[in-house]
Amino acid sequence: MNRAKLVVMKFGGTSVANPERVMLAARKAAKAKKAGKKIVVVVSAPGGMTDDLLGLANNVHPKPAGRELDTLLAAGEQVSIALFALALESLGIRAVSLTGSQAGITTDGHFGAAEITAIRPEKIRKALRQNKVVVVAGFQGATKEGDIATLGRGGSDLTAIALAAALKAGHCEIYTDVEGVYTADPRDSSSVKKIRSISYDAMIKLAKTGAKVMQLKSLELARRHKVAIHVKCSFNNKEGTWIK
Ligand code: ADP
Ligand code: ASP
Ligand code: MG
Repeated sequence: MNRAKLVVMKFGGTSVANPERVMLAARKAAKAKKAGKKIVVVVSAPGGMTDDLLGLANNVHPKPAGRELDTLLAAGEQVSIALFALALESLGIRAVSLTGSQAGITTDGHFGAAEITAIRPEKIRKALRQNKVVVVAGFQGATKEGDIATLGRGGSDLTAIALAAALKAGHCEIYTDVEGVYTADPRDSSSVKKIRSISYDAMIKLAKTGAKVMQLKSLELARRHKVAIHVKCSFNNKEGTWIK
């Protein structure tokens, strides 16, 4: 497959927080598909849902953790993949939703902060050959034993970068609720500036000082595999920030 033809598009929680936003995001993926791209979408849970699930667990256990908590938390992303794939189908685009495990993402057994140990994306490749848009649940995989494990908070970014590397995508688009990477958190200050392009090293530094716009681990993985990233806003078509 022509490398530049494949794009991984990741939509964060605020970008799939309600049905209207899911439709808006699905239209972006549909447009790219119609322009001739092969599309793998990675989605987070609807905004706030992961925290709500954590709250639920707190009602039945003082310190929820481990395998059972991961089974619960991973459910949020499953809501998003199904809704997103249905939204694409309503737009006339063939789509298939895959959990992390179905997508071939194997992890170690460090529940709550699992490391990806292998990716066997045969099912993704097959669906792409069938001309489908593939919608993968971020933030999750499964151990060799088949137990669901989550990758740590903000982990959908990691899923997106790991899939972009494994599938040799041309680049990875990270859709979020701001227009790119800024010199500081645009919510805290009005004197910030949007950055057009930034190196992996400089972006990693920014993430270490708390810029949660991209998860630190995902940036380290992107640097290792030279995955070009375009951080963009879900709600308009403006050029965002390139990390490369
Ligand atoms: P998503 O749900 O799409 O993954 P996040 O909430 O994880 O989004 O990250 C986006 C948020 O990161 C923005 O809403 C913004 O407030 C925050 N942020 C912090 N530092 C920066 C920065 N330097 N540039 C852009 N956004 C930043
Ligand atoms: N839903 C997960 C979280 O809230 C993963 C993500 O959004 O990237 O941390
Ligand atoms: Mg995030």
